[in-house]
Amino acid sequence: IIQLYMPLNWFGTYYRVIQKNFIDMENMFDLLAEHPEIEDLPDARDLMIKEGIVEFKNVSFSYTPERVVLRNVSFTVPAGKTLALVGPSGAGKSTIIRLLFRFYNVTDGAILIDDQNISFVTQESLRREIGVVPQDTVLFNNSIKYNIQYGRVGASAADIVAAARTADIHDRILTFPEAYDTQVGERGLKLSGGEKQRVAIARTILKSPAVVLLDEATSALDTQTERNIQAALANVCANRTTIIVAHRLSTIIHADEIVVLKDGEIVERGSHNELKDRGGQYAAMWKQQLENDAAGGPSSSSAEGQ
Ligand code: ATP
Repeated sequence: IIQLYMPLNWFGTYYRVIQKNFIDMENMFDLLAEHPEIEDLPDARDLMIKEGIVEFKNVSFSYTPERVVLRNVSFTVPAGKTLALVGPSGAGKSTIIRLLFRFYNVTDGAILIDDQNISFVTQESLRREIGVVPQDTVLFNNSIKYNIQYGRVGASAADIVAAARTADIHDRILTFPEAYDTQVGERGLKLSGGEKQRVAIARTILKSPAVVLLDEATSALDTQTERNIQAALANVCANRTTIIVAHRLSTIIHADEIVVLKDGEIVERGSHNELKDRGGQYAAMWKQQLENDAAGGPSSSSAEGQ
């Protein structure tokens, strides 16, 4: 009996750990990413959100000792404002998002939210206040309702529908065979990339975090999908401090500040109009995007790799 019981008990424990991890969608993101386990300090406090100001102060970071990936990066995102990160592939944009979520501790400098160094707060409280819309959302093999509700376990049906409406996915869901009860994911109805991203947006709206991190999908989307996503994104960003990793410059024309990264350093910063007229890196990227757009086809609208 003992022999049989032990592995079952072990499995039970493991299963609970896995289940717990699945409660937070960011942990899903967490599970997929390869990174070392970050420990909370023994005296770590909970992050207390006052306004939601995000600040990078002279942040440097290396994944491995031989290579610096971010060098002396500083910026402030005032409460409710939007900062966009652009730059060539490998510049360090996603690393900034990972550091803010504390998948890694900074090598030098500090990241502050409302003047609290995120290295000194509990990860649980930090991740509770941050919503992430990743590039590729993984759906659970469960109903579409479950997949949205995951943003706030226990949310009412009315709140789920309201979030879906705001994310511009409600009407689409009503066309599914069993509407909100339709099974989705690998073993159910397969959703397009744009639909999955809107599910992620609906989850984040339900979660209602102070800070939103968006990692825009690199994949090309058709114009209508693009418009739907733009509208949904505008809703999720409204009145929330937002950091967006942008691959299409058209997404970030209205960002309060655009930061251009190259080889881990900030090379330009300003509004779209300021940067467009400066004749630097951003102006070149913008020109390239206009040319690509003129050449036609959604597949040419990526401004990456410039
Ligand atoms: P993209 O637009 O292609 O997503 P990015 O600007 O987001 O690029 P990052 O993903 O932040 O770039 O990567 C910055 C640099 O850090 C790259 O040179 C990358 O190879 C390196 N890097 C990323 N993740 C790791 C890791 N886990 N270990 C070691 N190096 C890494």
